[in-house]
Amino acid sequence: MKSRYDLLVIGGGINGACIARDAAGRGLDVALVERGDLARATSSASSKLIHGGLRYLEQYKFRLVREALAEREILLRTAPHIVHPMRFVLPHRAGMRPPWMIGLGLGLYDRLGGRRTLPGSERVDLSDPAWNGGLALASKIGFAYTDCTVDDARFVVLAAVDAAQRGAEIMTRTRCAVLTRDGGNWICTLDTPAGASRQVAARAVVNAAGPWADHVRAAAAGGSTPRRLRLVKGSHIVVPRLHSGDHAFILQHDDGRVVFVIPYAEHYSLIGTTDVAVDRTDGNETPSEDEIAYLCAVVNGQFGIDLRADHVVWAFAGVRALYDDGKADPASVTRDYVLDLDFGDRGGDHGGDDGAAPMLTVYGGKITTARRLAERAMKRLAPTFPGLGPAWTADAALPGGDTGPFDAFVRVLGLKHPAFDKDWLRGLAERHGTRAHAILYGIGHPRDLGPTFGAGLVAREVDWMVRNEWAETADDIVWRRTKFGLAMTAHEIELLGEHLAGATVTV
Ligand SMILES: Cc1cc2nc3c(=O)[nH]c(=O)nc-3n(C[C@H](O)[C@H](O)[C@H](O)COP(=O)(O)OP(=O)(O)OC[C@H]3O[C@@H](n4cnc5c(N)ncnc54)[C@H](O)[C@@H]3O)c2cc1C
Repeated sequence: MKSRYDLLVIGGGINGACIARDAAGRGLDVALVERGDLARATSSASSKLIHGGLRYLEQYKFRLVREALAEREILLRTAPHIVHPMRFVLPHRAGMRPPWMIGLGLGLYDRLGGRRTLPGSERVDLSDPAWNGGLALASKIGFAYTDCTVDDARFVVLAAVDAAQRGAEIMTRTRCAVLTRDGGNWICTLDTPAGASRQVAARAVVNAAGPWADHVRAAAAGGSTPRRLRLVKGSHIVVPRLHSGDHAFILQHDDGRVVFVIPYAEHYSLIGTTDVAVDRTDGNETPSEDEIAYLCAVVNGQFGIDLRADHVVWAFAGVRALYDDGKADPASVTRDYVLDLDFGDRGGDHGGDDGAAPMLTVYGGKITTARRLAERAMKRLAPTFPGLGPAWTADAALPGGDTGPFDAFVRVLGLKHPAFDKDWLRGLAERHGTRAHAILYGIGHPRDLGPTFGAGLVAREVDWMVRNEWAETADDIVWRRTKFGLAMTAHEIELLGEHLAGATVTV
């Protein structure tokens, strides 16, 4: 453990992890501190889409949409194990956005982001069962287009793994408690998992604390600073699979919002989201009864079914930390990000000439644009780090992402390990990509995987995630490193917890 770094990144969500990765790959000595588990906050509570954000076109956010669309192809190439194309169907509804407007918007969506491999949009006939999926709408006009899904929490973990492989120190369960400028450096007091305090120095700080970015900024300024964040809670529910077919739906609701219904983890549908303005967050949000009722009502109205709260197998909520652009409606606040570079009293906004220590604060952002945001963050910090390496992440696979065509990779994995269940191997490949080889190294039979905790979660993979991915608790494993929590019983998760705590468990 060192006590001096070039760059200290506060926050182990997608933005912090991508910035730590990018900076370490450019030769900086980097530390990342996350007060809980990686991706414990917003970055595991997203709609799990790598998308341009069709509805942002209505807000004329062309820069954001263009950048996000371009990221789809980059992430498909560099992380094909956790990013997968998904066809979306947008049904037309009488009295809402007219077909010509949807067609125009999708035409723009097709062209804006330099699409190369993803198929373009098309008008589809919703009386065709292949597209209808059980919709009970009067209009049979629909539009299909392609975006991607992502395992959001694994994206964070893999970015952190890559950062660590390039020399970064990743400290989870470690809170940045006090931050002070000392000449050209930051001095940071960290609360460590052992309950002790530790001081580290860094030439620059990145404040990627998401919904807590204002707190970190205020702490560094030694008091209160103007509030820059709007916090908007968003909830999702997961229910047994609602419709057949591999495509997702993007439903227009009566209030003008859109709600996604996305095939999820093979047997389920992921439905979201809501937009509820909140004042603060403790990071433990859950969907309210009203939000669950709202999501059920949207689906019921358009599928003609009776989905209720007791059908929900999992529900989660997160808080968007949006840059406050003064808009009254939470759904209309900009989803674009802002990077604020601050040199304190001595340097002023454009300062740093006198060597004052910079803090770069990240406001907003998306899972989709985190890699690009990290590149921009490095550009802003470049004057502080002469000799900083060039941008590199657009062509570099995330750990395990060097699979080549993913389906072919899964087939070869099956041929190499014929004794293993094919679906289980696919799941392993979707979590670890080519790192699945290391997990299976030296074993020829499923019994060599050690105890099974339930739903296909085996000790060998759990121990791998403890050793290589900073997993410590059962929640880290079943809700963030994997989604086995969907199919495991409470008792099985408890036994996993005992295994992780070091107890001998007979499963
Ligand atoms: C409902 C919803 C749906 C969304 N859907 C999508 C989507 O489909 N696609 C998409 O691209 N984007 C989506 N987003 C946006 C995306 O999830 C967020 O932009 C992104 O996760 C923000 O990441 P972050 O790293 O900035 O923040 P976070 O993930 O919140 O990370 C901040 C971290 O900082 C840590 N931290 C705070 N204070 C300290 C401290 N003092 N010391 C140490 N650590 C600290 C926290 O514990 C936290 O883990 C969605 C967001 C929501 C809420």
